[in-house]
Amino acid sequence: MRPLVPEWVETLKPYVPGKPIEETEREYGVKNPIKLASNENPLGPSPKALALADAAAHKVHLYPDGANFSLVHAVAKHLGVSASEVFVGSGSNEIIELVIRTFTTPDDEALLSAGSFMMYKVALQSHGRRFREVPMKSGYRYDLEAMAAALTPKTRLVYLANPDNPTSTAFSKSELDAFLAKVPPETLVVLDEAYFEYVDWPEYPNGLDYYRARPNVLVLRTFSKIYGLAGLRVGYGIMQAPLVGYLNRTRMPFNLTSMAQAMAVAALDDAAHVKASRELTWKGLRFLEGALKDLGIPVPHSHANFVFADLGRPSGPVFEALLRKGVITRPVPGSGWPQALRISCGLPAENERLVTALREVLKT
Ligand SMILES: *Cc1c(COP(=O)(O)O)cnc(C)c1O
Repeated sequence: MRPLVPEWVETLKPYVPGKPIEETEREYGVKNPIKLASNENPLGPSPKALALADAAAHKVHLYPDGANFSLVHAVAKHLGVSASEVFVGSGSNEIIELVIRTFTTPDDEALLSAGSFMMYKVALQSHGRRFREVPMKSGYRYDLEAMAAALTPKTRLVYLANPDNPTSTAFSKSELDAFLAKVPPETLVVLDEAYFEYVDWPEYPNGLDYYRARPNVLVLRTFSKIYGLAGLRVGYGIMQAPLVGYLNRTRMPFNLTSMAQAMAVAALDDAAHVKASRELTWKGLRFLEGALKDLGIPVPHSHANFVFADLGRPSGPVFEALLRKGVITRPVPGSGWPQALRISCGLPAENERLVTALREVLKT
């Protein structure tokens, strides 16, 4: 008999999200756990977005604006790009997947860095697309030279997370320039900049400086991280207008809810919330990096809003022991790091609670 699903669906390892707070309370019997597992904004949503929530909720009997008009135009204005160059998605995850659906055929292959964001693999495999993974170089960093050498005539799509999740490292302008110089025009490069707003590094390449000269570059950003709207599912891509046109053909109608559209527009305007989030994160990251190094754990300098803790031993038991102390972190075996934990930067008291708990767990 014919199998129920194609072989690539049968063997697909699903994306494992961060453990929810309620589930941790239920399963581990702990009160008030803290979640440092999904790189969410510990300050919560933008107050400007929250102020609109009630009014927006009163309109949910109506279908959303299928063109996402206000949000597309707000993003365009905010970034100084044309509205025709903006595609908004139900999280940038929708766009990661839509790019495959829209631009690839079964013969095409994708190129990825090993040890990077697991969603790329899940999305590719769910479409039955083949991909190659190039190992990182030392320091948990993308090896863009080796990735360029791994390009073949079949490579249709490259995903680059900058900064990377889960390793928190970033690659520089000169590294990206050298890579793009070797990419043929028919290979699309998805520059995933989910943590763009947190980066404080003069060598960091801004994807918006690339897509105008290069019709094959797509830049992805999100409202899930610094804007604090992960639960609403809003992301966007900036790329040349013809690419936006094709994505608009293949997406489902009404891909963003009306509440998501309205609240994202307001959050975009909330410079004070973004600034406060960035400053809180920078302080928290330097605290976490220092404290973990004091515990003997190597931590690469983080360009995002989380740290990558290479424990040098299987991270599963440490993750479990931390859960029993009410601290939710994120093991990342699916990204190829069975000995590491990804720890999101929380409020100062949360970061201290994590360090105290980790110190106790590592002693035992
Ligand atoms: C968090 C994250 C995203 C954002 O996903 P959304 O669907 O917008 O919530 C995208 N890429 C990377 C690498 C991320 O870490």
